[in-house]
Amino acid sequence: MALVVQKFGGTSVADTDKIKGVVDRVLKVRDQGNDVVVVLSAMAGETNRFVELASKMQKIPDPREMDVLLASGEQVTVALFAMGVKARGGKAVSLLGDQVRILTDDTHTKARIRDIDTGKIKKLLADGNVVVVAGFQGVTDDGDLTTLGRGGSDTTAVALACALGADSCEIFTDVEGVFTTDPNICSSARKIDRITYDEMLELASLGAKVLDIRSVGIAKKYGLPVHVRSTFTDSDGTWVVKEDEVMESRMVSGVTYSKNEARITVARVPDTPGIAARIFTPISEAGIVVDMIIQNARAGEMTDMTFTVPRTDFDRAMEIVRKVADEIGAERVGSATNIAKVSIVGVGMRNHAGIASTAFKVLSDEGINIRMISTSEIKVSCVIEEKYTELAVRALHDAFGLGDDAPPVEE
Ligand code: ADP
Ligand code: ASP
Ligand code: MG
Repeated sequence: MALVVQKFGGTSVADTDKIKGVVDRVLKVRDQGNDVVVVLSAMAGETNRFVELASKMQKIPDPREMDVLLASGEQVTVALFAMGVKARGGKAVSLLGDQVRILTDDTHTKARIRDIDTGKIKKLLADGNVVVVAGFQGVTDDGDLTTLGRGGSDTTAVALACALGADSCEIFTDVEGVFTTDPNICSSARKIDRITYDEMLELASLGAKVLDIRSVGIAKKYGLPVHVRSTFTDSDGTWVVKEDEVMESRMVSGVTYSKNEARITVARVPDTPGIAARIFTPISEAGIVVDMIIQNARAGEMTDMTFTVPRTDFDRAMEIVRKVADEIGAERVGSATNIAKVSIVGVGMRNHAGIASTAFKVLSDEGINIRMISTSEIKVSCVIEEKYTELAVRALHDAFGLGDDAPPVEE
């Protein structure tokens, strides 16, 4: 008898019929003699709806209250799911984050899991229940509700699987696995059968939202294989595994994009030691992650500092930056929220020259202007105007031979 953790995303539980379908799927596994822990997201669109509602009440919603609101979406689906199991004559118990006791820090809206108490789940499993856990949420030492950041149900599932010593962790979603790029915007995207933790970490960090980046980090740490697959078919999906378990070696493993980007420019700041720290320390203290940073060399004693932050943190970042800009005597603060970041990713890029220049040429051939660039040894990212995102992704994907019939490039 195996212990299986199965997570179903928002589109998989979008309405009561879909939830009934998932109940059938889970009960099949249960009836084969396995213990099953199910982790659920909120119904598709619900979390976005809550974000929208909150923005109507407060320009920058209070993070603690935001978590109370956001956590309610998953509360609905776990209860409905448990009812669905009972309606089929099965045994199930739903548990919220604080009922399991998924203990987190108090960084509201992007809390980190500190510890999971598995006692209650184990007892319920031993009593023959399907245990249905609300994804994306936890509780602080003080009993306040927290959420783990968008896409956080993946992290709940992987963390639970590790804590329980589960035999497998399956992430069920609306696509058949991890593809060379988002299959919903590029029809030639190819499903990847096996991908390393490190490649998946890069893809996730650069916008491939099919797996939450924190879930991949935890899986890597514990060496837990994760199977990403479709809720709506029985076919094998993508296995996220250790490096030595991936046979195929690729130069570029995928193309990603992120529209959750905003650019801020602090123009004409004094070019003196300590200015970068003055700008970025309060931003990081607010828990906002700065991504690309460019400091322009200017003649004279002034410089421009341009950087990107997640669009979801833009209002908070601007509030902080305006204050600092005043203090340091910057001339002006500029910004843009109609930008996106497209990236090509691949561990094989380490050994190949010319990838970045090829990417720039592909974008220029499409008439797409590059606003910012950043590279590392395994990725090239370009900030472009948001309206060109899909075009850029398709052009890069095809230019690097990632399409359906493309053979993997040997290192
Ligand atoms: P869920 O609600 O099941 O968690 P998500 O919407 O979070 O699902 O993630 C699945 C979506 O990720 C897909 O519908 C797809 O549009 C998107 N996606 C982006 N990049 C990729 C990729 N490289 N491979 C597969 N899906 C991707
Ligand atoms: N419901 C949350 C979200 O939409 C968590 C998740 O689905 O993983 O981000
Ligand atoms: Mg998701």
